[in-house]
Amino acid sequence: MDCRKVSEVVFLYTDNEMDGELLVSFREHVSICPECARRTRYAERLVAIFRQRCIRATAPDRLRQRILTSLPHRRSFE
Ligand SMILES: [Zn+2]
Repeated sequence: MDCRKVSEVVFLYTDNEMDGELLVSFREHVSICPECARRTRYAERLVAIFRQRCIRATAPDRLRQRILTSLPHRRSFE
């Protein structure tokens, strides 16, 4: 794998959608190339921030639903 290929597939790696030979050669290159190691860490951070924002945006609705459906005496409130 070379640097150009790493930048093409780095988000497969951060999404855990990389396996087999691709994953092996990706890790091999990242372990010997500081530039791609940095690129990979940056991509991981971006994905982590993105996921956190998504969770924060959807949590209130899902939490509310879970509370509503788990209330044992919901009918008495209606
Ligand atoms: Zn590289």
